[in-house]
Amino acid sequence: MGRRQVLPTLTVLLLVLAGAAVSAPDPVRVFSQHGMARGLDGRPLTPVVLDPDSRDDLAELAFDLGRGRVLVLRTNLSPERRHDIADLAAAVRRCHEFVEHATGRRVQGDMLLYLMTFPEVPRAYTFRVELDAGDRWSQIRLALLNDRETLTGVTASLHLQHLLYATLPHELGHHLINAEPTVLQDIDNRPSYYTRWFTEGVCETLAFRFAQRECPAHAWRILRERRVDRVLESNGLRGHLLGWAQSDRHDWDLESDLYGGAMLLVMEWLQWEPLPDLLASLAATGGQHDGTLLLERLCRTANMTVAEIFEHAAQRGSDLLAPICSLR
Ligand SMILES: [Zn+2]
Repeated sequence: MGRRQVLPTLTVLLLVLAGAAVSAPDPVRVFSQHGMARGLDGRPLTPVVLDPDSRDDLAELAFDLGRGRVLVLRTNLSPERRHDIADLAAAVRRCHEFVEHATGRRVQGDMLLYLMTFPEVPRAYTFRVELDAGDRWSQIRLALLNDRETLTGVTASLHLQHLLYATLPHELGHHLINAEPTVLQDIDNRPSYYTRWFTEGVCETLAFRFAQRECPAHAWRILRERRVDRVLESNGLRGHLLGWAQSDRHDWDLESDLYGGAMLLVMEWLQWEPLPDLLASLAATGGQHDGTLLLERLCRTANMTVAEIFEHAAQRGSDLLAPICSLR
């Protein structure tokens, strides 16, 4: 059992697989998401199968995301419950604009969001959809809510809050990092380049800053969940962070700590160099940096040793949570 609650409240595994179909001209993309939960007896609950293709109650709505992009919503929300749907779409658009401004890069492609409501949200579920022309979408997402929850504001579904203020800015960050040369990354089971502290740190920073602007309560949840006031105290975690590989199979608590440590390290870097300049400079070198080169570059930029950078990042972590703790 973990010592902390996993954001939002369920363990969610999310997979997006893209591959070229043999006979189809357009790539088929498979999107699946699984929520896992245990019953009172400690056994995993049997998941409810959510199959959008077999449902005839999903309406499709489209909203402008600017720059020619569209948000397509597939939802079983009744027309009476759609009064704040434009506010939801506006938040998605602001997220795109925020991430573009923060990175200096342009998000290409539309977003597809399945928004499904239930009398009670199933605690365990599986969701899977195959999409033709999968390359149309920069993002494919699923959010669940119950019949009493709203789409925005303090009564919004936790699924939606987490999607809007954490998952979406984080994943748009990955989308942009991957779309242009940035750094060497662990893909296709190659040996690790140990750049995860940088890529995940950039994406977590984007999520935190967007949440800070849009929903301070959720920004606080991110800080608390990532334990930013303590996470870099230990030398062990510092070592794990610089050797963090895609193939690692850490338990969730350590993995969550690594996201927190990565965010603090990247925030330290961004004190000295704005993110758009940093990404442009990495692109200019062809995206050939591995983790060691990145760290050397950070040390040069900050004019500090690795140990000093970790000390500053740890201090930043306690400063970030300190004003909030004093209000408790
Ligand atoms: Zn990530």
